[in-house]
Amino acid sequence: MRFHGTDAILKPKGPHITSFPNKAGVAIIFALIDEIHRNKQSLSDIDGLIGDGDHGINMNKGFQMCKQRLVADTDDMSGAFRVLAQVLMDHIGGAMGPLYGSFFKAMAKASMKADPIDAGLFADMLTAAEQKVRDIGQCQLGDKTLLDVLAPASDAFKKNLANGGSFADALDAMSAAAEIGREATIDMIAKKGRASRLKERSKGVPDPGATSCCLILNTMARTVKQLLADA
Ligand code: ADP
Ligand code: MG
Repeated sequence: MRFHGTDAILKPKGPHITSFPNKAGVAIIFALIDEIHRNKQSLSDIDGLIGDGDHGINMNKGFQMCKQRLVADTDDMSGAFRVLAQVLMDHIGGAMGPLYGSFFKAMAKASMKADPIDAGLFADMLTAAEQKVRDIGQCQLGDKTLLDVLAPASDAFKKNLANGGSFADALDAMSAAAEIGREATIDMIAKKGRASRLKERSKGVPDPGATSCCLILNTMARTVKQLLADA
């Protein structure tokens, strides 16, 4: 026999919580929308140095469109990632529409039937997103793209878990690796996209896509940790 409210009473609280409800995960997408909005100018400024200066403005356009749609039909994290992916793929041109569109669609698909979301599932989401970026971008490590943040961050998350880290520990490892990955793009020569036309002259500044990917992963880490603490 089940007693009403027993779950709530017995459920442990605090940072050792290992999962969060898919529905509560909608907060991740709203946090991403805010973060891209806050950084739209600096992301475009970085793109102005080795590209055409539209990166942050374009990303923000897509994320704001997503926000408007989510107000009407917010369901869960997977559904919200799907909406974001669709908007980016349908309405955002340039390299980032298809790349981040596929990134978020992969995250939506990997988590669609999962509830709650635990660290293993989050690892699957990162793996799926990385695979899609590799497929769509035809890029490799060292090409000075968002992959130079995504791949080491995803690896660090999984390695930390494998070594016995908690969900929150692995998220910290992911964020740290993302920052290192972004910094590492400064010395790289762009091999893909618009910046590759500059050859040697693309050196000396971080890659715009790597910079936005670092922001995105850090925001995810921060929000998921908050969700774990609240669960
Ligand atoms: P555009 O270059 O079309 O103006 P953005 O400025 O929005 O697009 O994005 C530029 C970013 O896209 C680059 O910094 C890089 O990270 C990423 N990028 C471009 N081409 C590729 C590719 N083939 N594979 C992976 N990432 C790429
Ligand atoms: Mg650009």
